[in-house]
Amino acid sequence: MNHSIDRRKWLQSAGLLSTGLAMSPFAAFAGSAEITSQSRTWERNLRPSADLDKIQVRLNANENVFGPSEKVRLAVMESVSMGNRYGHEDAMRLISMIAEKEQVSKDCIMLGPGSTDLLEKAAITHFIGGGNIVAADPSYMSLIKTAMAFGATWKNVPLKADWSHDLTKMSAAMDKSTKMVYVCNPNNPTGSITNAAELRTFCRKASDLAPIFVDEAYLEYLDNPVASSMVDLVREGKNVIVSRTFSKVHAMAGLRIGYIVALPATLKKIDTMVRGNMGLSITSIRGAIASMQDTTFHQNACKWTKESRDYTQDQLKTMGFTYVPSYTSFILFPIQMEGEPFLKKMTDEGIGVRAFDVFGKPYCRVSMGTMPEMKLFTAALKKVLV
Ligand code: PLP
Repeated sequence: MNHSIDRRKWLQSAGLLSTGLAMSPFAAFAGSAEITSQSRTWERNLRPSADLDKIQVRLNANENVFGPSEKVRLAVMESVSMGNRYGHEDAMRLISMIAEKEQVSKDCIMLGPGSTDLLEKAAITHFIGGGNIVAADPSYMSLIKTAMAFGATWKNVPLKADWSHDLTKMSAAMDKSTKMVYVCNPNNPTGSITNAAELRTFCRKASDLAPIFVDEAYLEYLDNPVASSMVDLVREGKNVIVSRTFSKVHAMAGLRIGYIVALPATLKKIDTMVRGNMGLSITSIRGAIASMQDTTFHQNACKWTKESRDYTQDQLKTMGFTYVPSYTSFILFPIQMEGEPFLKKMTDEGIGVRAFDVFGKPYCRVSMGTMPEMKLFTAALKKVLV
């Protein structure tokens, strides 16, 4: 697709889909790599705003509707009576468990109240003196936004036509002012993945020049999470920072807990400016300890999420939509309506979703809920767009 196509033509052409004209799943996205690094997507990243009380089905924040697990609920309830104490010892216990799981030493782990806290801390401590950050476009913006607020320039490298990171162009974009590279894999808001072997080769080389921050918030939804993680590079002594969260597969978004795995020197650099392992409540630490031991819940959450995802992708296909094949708990697809009116209409139907402008075109991002919720979503979508 020629990206100089105007919005009206795009909306018309996307509208043809609903009349049943065949189109390959990637036809709508072909050529995304033509976008120059000057043209930024994500400038219009829309959330439902008005009439929030109308939303009955919340599919706008990539939450895990299947939890938290019974074991987490119990641990959290029992820990309330410890609310008068700091959770230092419990935090050390959780760090030990994580270190064992990730096969690194304890001084390679830093905890935070959600991975957002650690994304921001990494950004603050690395960009306080300016510099540039190399990251894909579109991608998850927390770290990039904080880096820019501290004076960094974002060297945005468009995702490739298959929605993977363009590692060759990201390498080429690095220069002596690059203070960090950010890679989100699987990526938000696209739900797409970058090949782990290729990413590992890139990280090994590029981390000699600047730290590579790999955000693995959705890693556990992959079929082979261990092989897909870049945490082995920390074990190798590479300057790679891997973030993980308890908000997604663990279903603890509201309890706020996450961690990073990095070289001890990197964590020390962060800790000298902003204190790590703090800001956590004893309830979330104890919940995380319980959750780490409840692998049955994680397996079920992945299974149920995939059922909802398969169903939703099938429904989208039947309705004539293309979509970005998802490896996560959400799906991104182009829509034939501008984001704002679309969100309003979906909200009127009781459904909360997100809208993004990606490469100048409107897209919907829908998080996976239960099967009955996905049925309500597809019924609303049919009413609003088909
Ligand atoms: N990273 C990615 C890619 C995300 O999508 C999110 C949340 O949606 C986060 C990090 C932040 O998660 P939390 O702060 O809840 O750990």
